[in-house]
Amino acid sequence: MAFDECIPYPSDKSYVADSVARTTRWLHRCADKLTELNKQEDAVNCNQMLFGINQGGVFEDLRIEHAKEITQLDLPGYAIGGLAVGESHEQMYSILDAVVPYLPEDKPVYLMGVGTPENILEAVDSGVDFFDCVLPARNGRHGSVYTSAGKLHILNAKYEQDDCPLDDKCGCPACVNYSRAYIRHLFKAKEMLALRLCVMHNLFFYNSMMEEIRIAIEGGYFQKYKKEKLYCWQNVNKATIVGGQVAETVTETAGTAASAASGTVADPSVGAMNPIMLILFYGLLLVALYFFMFRPQRKRDKQMKEMQESIRSGDNVVTSSGFYGKVVDIGEDCFVVEFGTNRGIRVPVRKADVVGIKTPNVNPSLTSGGTSS
Ligand SMILES: [Zn+2]
Repeated sequence: MAFDECIPYPSDKSYVADSVARTTRWLHRCADKLTELNKQEDAVNCNQMLFGINQGGVFEDLRIEHAKEITQLDLPGYAIGGLAVGESHEQMYSILDAVVPYLPEDKPVYLMGVGTPENILEAVDSGVDFFDCVLPARNGRHGSVYTSAGKLHILNAKYEQDDCPLDDKCGCPACVNYSRAYIRHLFKAKEMLALRLCVMHNLFFYNSMMEEIRIAIEGGYFQKYKKEKLYCWQNVNKATIVGGQVAETVTETAGTAASAASGTVADPSVGAMNPIMLILFYGLLLVALYFFMFRPQRKRDKQMKEMQESIRSGDNVVTSSGFYGKVVDIGEDCFVVEFGTNRGIRVPVRKADVVGIKTPNVNPSLTSGGTSS
């Protein structure tokens, strides 16, 4: 690539004009030097190509003028630089439509630093041949994934139990071998593999898309392909505002379970109950537990203790094991109870194990040999 100045957006037209002139001078010096070096006997690579870079900001006349100037050098290829630096997509598409016709049709045209899948489709439509961009790798590292149904953010809570692949129409190793839930888990566990899988998928998605674009151009149906893809991705609608955040919803497209996108998505499964409602809910739960469980139990315990304290020598009692006998002596924390038909077996029973005072109404022989716990 020739040396150039990539100006910021916005810039004054006078500054842009001076900058474009400077870039042109640098290109001439660069081309002359390359020719000189290639003539040397020990030249490392005489076939190295030099691309000129078109500049001019968002000023169509400067862009076109510059394109005409640099194409006079008959270089192997031409790039369009200084776009995707803050201008709107519409401005970028407008500049591409204006300048590409002034670049040689039989030389490759390279759009520098662009872009989203939508940008690429529009630029190809304008006549651009190739691209470079950090988006698929950078977004992948942050869990933003491009799919056939639009972009999704794998860290959203709704993917926690999702067994589907990132994109059910993708054949990359990440989609063939792993689920959204697993990749999300890897992100949560801060595993590097999560970043690698998402970057791998995004690069595979971009490469597959470029392959499809080439096939569509050769097959003569690029316009149809572009229209269908844009329709599919644009079904990711910025629809509802939840708690000041934009929530994106996705409609079903071409039989694919659609997915939501963007790092600022407000997930419907998160924050379904506000804190006041939550406190009220737990408060009511505690009140219900007190009146229906703790209070009746305390009352039963009190009644049982009063009954155990009222037992006197000679009373017939029932133990927690279901045996009954006659109290013949009372100790500090136990009763001596006489069991058996002939009342010959005396066993100490813990006061707490006596659960009632009762008059026996069964055949006494059944209690023979009984004991307490
Ligand atoms: Zn994939």
